[in-house]
Amino acid sequence: MNTKVAPGDDFFAFANGEWMASTAIPKDRSTWGVMGELTELTNVRTAELIKTTTDAKIADTYATFMDEAAIESKGLAPVEPVLKEIERIKDKSALARALGGTIRADVDVLNNTELHTDNVLGLWVAEDLDDPTKYAAFLVQGGLGMPDREYYVDPSPRMTDLRAKYVAHVEAVLTLAKVKDAKAKAGRIFELEKKIAQEHASREDAGDVEKGNNHWARKDFDAKAPGMDWGAFFAGAGLEKQTAFVAWTPKHVTSLAALVAKEPLETWKDYLAFHALDGLSPFLPKAFVEEHFAFHAKAIGGVEQLRKRWKRAIDVTNDALGEAVGKLYVDKYFPASEKARTKVMVKNIVDAFGKRIEGLSWMNDATKARAKAKLATLEVGIGYPDRFRDYSKLEVVRGDALGNARRASKFEYDRNRAKLGKPVDRGEWVMTPQLVNAVNLPVRNALQFPAAILQPPLLDPKRPEAMDYGAAGAIIGHEISHSFDDQGALFDETGKLHNWWTADDLAHFKASGAALVKQFDAYKPFPDAHVNGKQTLGENIADVAGLSAAYDAFTASLGGKPAPVVDGFTGDQQFFISFAQGWRTKIRPDALRSRLVTDGHAPPEYRSDTVRNLDAWYKAFDPKPGQALFLAPSDRVRIW
Ligand SMILES: [Zn+2]
Repeated sequence: MNTKVAPGDDFFAFANGEWMASTAIPKDRSTWGVMGELTELTNVRTAELIKTTTDAKIADTYATFMDEAAIESKGLAPVEPVLKEIERIKDKSALARALGGTIRADVDVLNNTELHTDNVLGLWVAEDLDDPTKYAAFLVQGGLGMPDREYYVDPSPRMTDLRAKYVAHVEAVLTLAKVKDAKAKAGRIFELEKKIAQEHASREDAGDVEKGNNHWARKDFDAKAPGMDWGAFFAGAGLEKQTAFVAWTPKHVTSLAALVAKEPLETWKDYLAFHALDGLSPFLPKAFVEEHFAFHAKAIGGVEQLRKRWKRAIDVTNDALGEAVGKLYVDKYFPASEKARTKVMVKNIVDAFGKRIEGLSWMNDATKARAKAKLATLEVGIGYPDRFRDYSKLEVVRGDALGNARRASKFEYDRNRAKLGKPVDRGEWVMTPQLVNAVNLPVRNALQFPAAILQPPLLDPKRPEAMDYGAAGAIIGHEISHSFDDQGALFDETGKLHNWWTADDLAHFKASGAALVKQFDAYKPFPDAHVNGKQTLGENIADVAGLSAAYDAFTASLGGKPAPVVDGFTGDQQFFISFAQGWRTKIRPDALRSRLVTDGHAPPEYRSDTVRNLDAWYKAFDPKPGQALFLAPSDRVRIW
């Protein structure tokens, strides 16, 4: 902490000042904070588990990626079959088939919210928004090597500079792969991507369920998106039997098909070769790894140093065999006592939410009944799934790092494809137990809290419980509240896309939302760039609501007795300090700028400022009018 800073001037600095002053971002990261510390701790433990396991698939995946000398000596050989296949493409039908063949299950519009894939489209198999008892095949825009359309169209100097660096990167990768005329090809590949980018939905629109929920029958693709041999495309994707899709970003689908028809076959083949090489670079010799790092991590994210190989090997192993590794993790590090303690905390926060709903003056009784029904059917997964995933059909070959990576992503794709037409598996987890994160699944009306986020310093049996409510509790409240925020209002208690609010409820909510948009728009991490209040609204509402419910639950958990004073701080003060400390993070300027554009969350410092909307924070720290964080009671945003 830095107790010389007045809480009302800068609560983040008050709670984290000493840490901010004494902490440096590790060279291999663009950001460092609680989430990074937790990830590091989890990684060290995971590495130990992986190195000592008797599970051959886990051991072989890790060891093969670690064997740099073997990868170096193989040179380009492992990727050559991929390039040869692209070389053999002789017409636009074969191109369509090849493009279809690149599709993977690497996007997720509602749960993990991953909206980027560098393949031309991404597949997400999840509950149909109109009938959550069935799975639907969502197709999401892609095709860009840089993170978002803004990188291609924004005229700012930084983006202009990154575009030049990207073209140089494309040329460098092609050159490393001994492709002829790399410079000219890089220029054409970039121009093609730019055309794809121009018809991309914005980040905001791509996250809008009402804009995304477009049911297209298979035949609609021929009518609405002419130019692509869709029969060949879907056959290449292994989706030839699928008769219904959701075209999440329809403008992109139409434009993609037109570009397939219009752009020269050779440009497309060069594009495919580059994307294959770029995507597989982490599994190729050092020169590729370093070029990949120099652009994707250093230029885009401001990271100074490549992460150590063992850390990347853990990521590779987690990507391939996530739940198998996760089972090892929870067996050792997530005791039943912590699962039970979290269960009690969740119950208290859910109850607090229920009381808040009952007490709302602006919501009519019919809507309240729906909200309570939704709360009553909410399923909360804690730590890990009841049934772990079966990897018996995944082939792992010792000594074939690139092949292992390709087989693992194909395995994951096939696993998702196989869900189509089957009943929804409500026990499936979308995050691994060893991932430091939490998630709301709107179409399942469920939440999942992986074991790795339920560890110190967010949940710690060795400290006052006030601090656990302020940290883990606020995160739990945040996720619960997503079921009732501007997204959650769209999904009813069965998970169906069906707005359960009246026009009046929505009007009040929008007005409250507008105040929060303004509050966050005013945060300026740079003189020339501010937080996008609209882009981050859903997350900011969740922070206000989650913190409020966690506070109520903490108060209720005391059963009328005062919380113990520790180091001179009252229970309420501990609660809020712990909340702000849970957000302690340092971010490199480039990465912060990139986040302002692409992230649905506000930067952590401003998330910690959420406290200024709670009356209890004013009672705990007594900030005065005129101080930076002070809000008059009428300006405090109260939504739930
Ligand atoms: Zn959230």
